[in-house]
Amino acid sequence: MVYELPDLPYAYDALEPTIDARIMELHHSAHHQGYVDGANAALDELERMRESGDFEGIKHVKRDLSFNLSGHVNHSIFWENMSPDGGGEPSGELAAAIDEEFGSVDAFRSEFGEAAKAVESNGWAWLFYEPVGDRLVVGQVESQNRLAHQGAIPLLGLDVWEHAYYLQYENERGEYVDSWWDVVDWDDVAARYDDARTEE
Ligand code: MN
Repeated sequence: MVYELPDLPYAYDALEPTIDARIMELHHSAHHQGYVDGANAALDELERMRESGDFEGIKHVKRDLSFNLSGHVNHSIFWENMSPDGGGEPSGELAAAIDEEFGSVDAFRSEFGEAAKAVESNGWAWLFYEPVGDRLVVGQVESQNRLAHQGAIPLLGLDVWEHAYYLQYENERGEYVDSWWDVVDWDDVAARYDDARTEE
């Protein structure tokens, strides 16, 4: 298997009361596992196509790979973006970059939160580092991969698929989005920002 489900860096109940243990358990062990399995299955199917020389249906395999691999990457970052010791404010160069791009951390939280609440159906809000312009961008990604920003490096993501909150928040996505800041691990986001800029 090329792709494997990573362990969570904390227990399933560690993010309570912000996110229930049962949500975390299903989200990690069933949903994230599904993206991992889907990505591996797409690679297997592609290998069969290469061996047979018959690429009938390749469009669907490539779509499956994009969706499932994106789901795997998104969730792998999402888990690390959160911590039971999260919350508070960003600091250092990340905070300076947020101030420069959005005006203030509060203004960033507003834009990111509104983007998350306004995702049509299932998707994500993301803070990206966009290397061409050397700047931060808030993106609204539909599903796992649509409206992705080519070349941009994901720093902080919020999953607003219903599987991420419905058992606890029911139809109140906005409450979930507003509560989520209490578990954001800004140290992880800052480390990703530093790594992204170092790669330039
Ligand atoms: Mn999810």
